[in-house]
Amino acid sequence: THFGFETVPEAEKAKRVYKVFENVAQKYDVMNDAMSLGIHRLWKDTLLHVMNPQSGAQLLDVAGGTGDISFRFLEYVRSQQERQKRRAVRTMQTPSWQEISNSYSTEDKDVPQESRAVVCDINKEMLRVGKQKYESAGVSAGLSWVVGDAEELPFDDDQFDIYTIAFGIRNVTHIDQALQEALRVLKPGGRFMCLEFSKVTNPVLASFQMIPVLGEVIAGDWKSYQYLVESIRKFPNQEEFKSMIEDAGFYCVQYYNFTGGVVAIHSGFKL
Ligand code: SAM
Repeated sequence: THFGFETVPEAEKAKRVYKVFENVAQKYDVMNDAMSLGIHRLWKDTLLHVMNPQSGAQLLDVAGGTGDISFRFLEYVRSQQERQKRRAVRTMQTPSWQEISNSYSTEDKDVPQESRAVVCDINKEMLRVGKQKYESAGVSAGLSWVVGDAEELPFDDDQFDIYTIAFGIRNVTHIDQALQEALRVLKPGGRFMCLEFSKVTNPVLASFQMIPVLGEVIAGDWKSYQYLVESIRKFPNQEEFKSMIEDAGFYCVQYYNFTGGVVAIHSGFKL
C-alpha cells in the first residue's frame, strides 16, 4: 500500500483498466474537461502542433478512446490544406497553355492523398461513444474505429506515418511490448508520439497529479480511480521513458515537458 492506494497486481491490471473505461465511457469527455479544467484540450492541441502532420499522412491513434487526437489530426491537416490553397491562389501567376492543358489531364498526379485516422482502443464502449459523437455531428469522415490491444495491434507491418498514444500508455500492462508494436506498424520514417502525465518537480504542480481523485466526484467510482492515481505514480519519469523508447529501436528520441512536466510529449522515429 502506498499513500493508501493499493498496488494492483499485473494480472489484475488489464481487467481493472477495462472496467474503469467501460464505466466512464459515457461521461469520459465531460469528466476529462472537469478533471483538467479543460487543460487537456490545450495539451492535445500542443501534440498536434509538435506533430505538424502533412496532408496525406496516415495516423494510428492507439488507446484513442473517444477520438480526441484523431479528430484534431484530421482538422489540423484540413486547415493546413486550406491555408496552402489560399497561398497558392494569392501567389498564382497567369498559367501557360502547357499548364492549362495539363490541368485537364485525367491523371490526377497532383491530387493529395487523403489523410485518414484509425482510432484503436481495447474498449468497445469508449469507441462506441466516440463514433456516435462524431457521426451524430456529421463529422466522422476520415475516421475509422478498431477494437485492438496496444500490445498486439491488429494491423500489418509498415502501415502508418504517425502513431500516437495519448494518456494511454500508462494503462498498458507491458509498455515494452506496446513500443515494439508501435515500431512494427509504423512505416520506415514514421513517427511515434506519446502524450502522458509525467514527473513534475514543482510541488504545487505535483498536486495537479491528484486530479484523478476528482474523478470520483464526477464518475462516482472511487475504486476505479485509485488505480488511475497509482498508474501515474508508477509510470517511469521522462528520462527513463526516453530510454525505453530507444531500447525499443526508435531513433532521435526527444521529449518536451508542458505545464512544468505535468504532461510530457515523447517522440521518436522508425528508420
Ligand atoms: N486518447 C484518448 C484521450 O486522450 O482522450 C483516451 C485516453 S483514456 C485516458 C485511455 C484509453 O486507453 C482508454 O480508452 C482505454 O480503454 C485505453 N486502453 C487501455 N489499455 C489499452 C490497451 N492495452 N490497448 C489499447 N487501448 C487501451
